[in-house]
Amino acid sequence: MSRPVRALVDTQALHANLECVRTAAPQARVLAVVKANGYGHGLLRTARTLRTADAFGVASIDEAVALREAGFSQPILLLAGFFYEDELDTISSLRLHIVVHHESQLAALERARLDRPVYVWLKIDSGMHRLGFQPERAAEIHLRLCNCAQVEPEVRLMTHLANADARDDAATPDQLGVFQRAVEGLAGERSIANSAAILGWPQTHADWVRPGLMLYGVNPFTTGVASDVGLRAAMSLTSRLIAINHHRRGDAIGYGGDYRCPENMPIGVIAIGYGDGYPRAAITGTPVLVSGRRVTLVGRVSMDLVTVDLRNHPRAAVGDEAILWGSDLPVEEVARCAATIPYELLCRVAARVPIHEV
Ligand SMILES: *Cc1c(COP(=O)(O)O)cnc(C)c1O
Repeated sequence: MSRPVRALVDTQALHANLECVRTAAPQARVLAVVKANGYGHGLLRTARTLRTADAFGVASIDEAVALREAGFSQPILLLAGFFYEDELDTISSLRLHIVVHHESQLAALERARLDRPVYVWLKIDSGMHRLGFQPERAAEIHLRLCNCAQVEPEVRLMTHLANADARDDAATPDQLGVFQRAVEGLAGERSIANSAAILGWPQTHADWVRPGLMLYGVNPFTTGVASDVGLRAAMSLTSRLIAINHHRRGDAIGYGGDYRCPENMPIGVIAIGYGDGYPRAAITGTPVLVSGRRVTLVGRVSMDLVTVDLRNHPRAAVGDEAILWGSDLPVEEVARCAATIPYELLCRVAARVPIHEV
């Protein structure tokens, strides 16, 4: 038998969250971002559940090949394009779409001799300063792509926002203005918005939206939880209480003895740890649900175990279900207690944790 840790994926929630995207951006087509193993929910499971999406976005060619082999026929976009020139044959034969963000990729395309042309999304750096061509070069690069025999003539235009998760940040309208001026008069569909922009910045919706996080039922803004924006958490990370031990006032709990019992008290032990992807940085006070009741983490997170304060849960019993995050315990809240973001918690769930659909 394996350990009692499970990631439960609610496919109906995934589905409902895609509907939220459609409602928020009714004019746009939806490129569902399923990179990083569907943000930890399973690539194929997520794609099958979201099969009505107009396209999929992935980070690597392996993910794109897996989707094609599973029979998905819609456009599949490599969000950072190709990393190695020899990927171009597969990209061409599987009719994948690629982001072109750098001169080196353009040069490789111009050198290549492919059986059929590839679909290109030209990425402009409108102010995030990570990937993309400078806005002044948009027209020139667009022309080169349109003239390249290895590129399908319908070149799309995209950019990515750095601050869309902050609701009143002037950086977003600035980036939008830079992008719009750069691509003015150029032919091709446009794409700008990630989840936060879909919900917070309707002026960025354009022709294609690119939701990731919101599909998985997480509030994409810097504050708040999923239910505030009508989303449903798709993943619950669960395990079981495997021991309850009564310790005395002053006893130190776990590695380093960081937590000392302020009084005689019951300490519960749950079979979950950083080896499962539960964040080691989670502090004393991080909420955990034990048989439906909120308790708090105490002491350090170990590889396979965590300890919780059971003083306010006298009826807790060995074998009770523990939920580390999920529909009744927002992953947003746990992420804040671990000084990280929900993205990282979801896509870090370890390979040793079995995923079950519910
Ligand atoms: C990951 C990614 C997205 C999705 O972002 P979310 O914040 O998860 O919605 C959109 N666009 C690009 C280019 C990405 O890399």
